Amino acid sequence: MSERSAPTARKAIQDLRALLDRASRAYYLDNKPFMTDREFDERLAELAALEAAHPEFDDPGSPTRRIGGEPIGSFRTVRHAVPMLSIDNSYSAEDVRAWAARIEKAAGAEAGPLFGGGAAFVCDPKIDGVAVSVRYEKGELVHALTRGDGEKGDDITENARTIRALPLRLSGPGVPDVLEVRGEAFLPNKEFERINAEREAADEEPFMNPRNACAGTLKQLDPRRVAARRLGFVAHGRGEVSPAEWADSHSAFMEKLPTIGLPVNAGWRVCRGAEEALAYIAEFDGKRGAMPYAIDGVVVRVDHFELQARLGQTSKSPRWCIAYKYPAERKTTRLTQVDYQVGKTGKITPRAVMEPALLAGTTVRHASLHNFGLIAERDIRVGDLVVVEKAGEIIPQVLGPAPENTRARSSKPVAPPEACPICAGPVEIEEENGRETARRCVNPECPAQVREKLVWFAGRTQMDIEGLGEKTIDQIRAESGAPLARFADIFLLKNHRDELLALDRMGEKKVDNLLAGAEAAKSRGLARVIGSMGIRHLGASNAKNLARAFPDIRALMGATQDQLSEVEGFGPVRARVVHEYLHSEAGRAAFAALEKVGVDLTSREYAAPSAQRTAFSGKTIVLTGTLDSFEREALKEVLESLGAKVTGSVSKKTDLVIAGESAGSKLGKARELGVEVWDETALLAALPADRRPAR
Ligand SMILES: [Zn+2]
Repeated sequence: MSERSAPTARKAIQDLRALLDRASRAYYLDNKPFMTDREFDERLAELAALEAAHPEFDDPGSPTRRIGGEPIGSFRTVRHAVPMLSIDNSYSAEDVRAWAARIEKAAGAEAGPLFGGGAAFVCDPKIDGVAVSVRYEKGELVHALTRGDGEKGDDITENARTIRALPLRLSGPGVPDVLEVRGEAFLPNKEFERINAEREAADEEPFMNPRNACAGTLKQLDPRRVAARRLGFVAHGRGEVSPAEWADSHSAFMEKLPTIGLPVNAGWRVCRGAEEALAYIAEFDGKRGAMPYAIDGVVVRVDHFELQARLGQTSKSPRWCIAYKYPAERKTTRLTQVDYQVGKTGKITPRAVMEPALLAGTTVRHASLHNFGLIAERDIRVGDLVVVEKAGEIIPQVLGPAPENTRARSSKPVAPPEACPICAGPVEIEEENGRETARRCVNPECPAQVREKLVWFAGRTQMDIEGLGEKTIDQIRAESGAPLARFADIFLLKNHRDELLALDRMGEKKVDNLLAGAEAAKSRGLARVIGSMGIRHLGASNAKNLARAFPDIRALMGATQDQLSEVEGFGPVRARVVHEYLHSEAGRAAFAALEKVGVDLTSREYAAPSAQRTAFSGKTIVLTGTLDSFEREALKEVLESLGAKVTGSVSKKTDLVIAGESAGSKLGKARELGVEVWDETALLAALPADRRPAR
């Protein structure tokens, strides 16, 4: 990179920035993407490398500034230039009519000439996200604030910068000197599902709805974590704008925003009078289910800014604006049973079985009851009429007994299982503030856990073992003599071909496909393997982070808890849980067995070019004598970080002895066994530059 001459580099940087900006605009504004996410990420990485080599061309507006900066300790509080009021909610057509009548009365005689009879309103779909105010000066993004108390908000600029829909620099005709735009940051439904699937895979509590997930994300102190979640943004309102004449009505404002790079919800419309607004509201109710993000209502505003100013505001909210909220889809039905699902980590999740109810277009028979603490808190009992709601239009859940519910005197609270409902093994209860948050079967051989783990491991987004679906796993376990309880057993199925062939509906072709699928999966590498094992707090993305930090399973096993907590995406809790698993009997046995059957447990694909396998990876090394440049413990750490195993005595298994001054019997033993011996000079030459001691 450094060989590139400055003018060439500058040109390359400029071209990449322009290309990536164009790609973002095409994606978020024009809805005509011309680049895949992957391609975008690759070009972004290319640009970041160029910028790192040429800091002289630094630019705060560069798309690389979206990757996320350093974590911060806490959020700064900043005053809003124009207070960020909340909008009054209404829940009925009558509320909207009454509000519109007040407006038309206040507008008086002017309503006629100004609006051609009946006040003009702008109707805009209301996204169920988090309100954010973003300030641009001379077109540059200067800060982004949360609403806070309306007067002052939290400075979340670094997090907002990672939102690709939000331009870092405005461009286009007539960018105003100051533009404070209010909008909604949100989590698209697909991204919400992806994050929740990942959280569930890592056995973390899933988010209740996209809004909670978005709010939690924006409050992260580490912007890199925000960048890893693809938040969206649409603009829908204004704070300070200078010059003020930039737009004289909300419709003009909404028309201009996309021309300078700010996305709006394209469904907004000018409506004349309350009835037109209500028709829009009814019409949009039918469309919102198909939107890629959650819409929970419609905001109706007076279009003309002059009239807005005349109407003014109450202490809490503007008089010229009202939000109509769609009623959440709720249904009352009868809870007939509570059943249990035992997950791959042993978590026992209660699930409501109900009389079928039609909810937001789908028939719902099951709903989440989350955990036994919640059942007790809401006093939900079998036989109750219960209210079911689709939270964030996605996951049905039981809110609690319906108001009209009557109970037989004999009704009893739901008794949480004292033993695992599948294996009758012991359970462990987790509590938070005295409330039960989880209950787990702790028997590692629990058949339910074993089955769920195998199904998960073989799944498409994990090890992707062709031909080994849920049904086949059940069939092999139940009907064949082939053992299938450990991950490693999958790779030993080839020794049981005849037993597989004897199974129903398992022809030669099917069996051979499965066996070939298992062979092919052996080379997926460390990240896929550990991300597929259902280890608590370890989903696919953190498994990749581990693979980037450690060259192979030995290096990973050699890492201390502290070293793990330094890995990107890891904190003390994740580090502890993962460390515990790696060193548990079950963990050690699983990795040893996988290695024995020939599964690749290295992370070659993630090794940066400079950090590729060194002379030390996978070697068993013994240190003896004293070295000038290292304390022995420090050198041990360095070698382990490079994937070596450092042991105390020389044996036939020793690959290398590093001998310093006055080395004793170990050196003699090494010579006797013919083990390779290095002195300090050889050691220093072989160490990567960044691991050599500082002088
Ligand atoms: Zn069990």
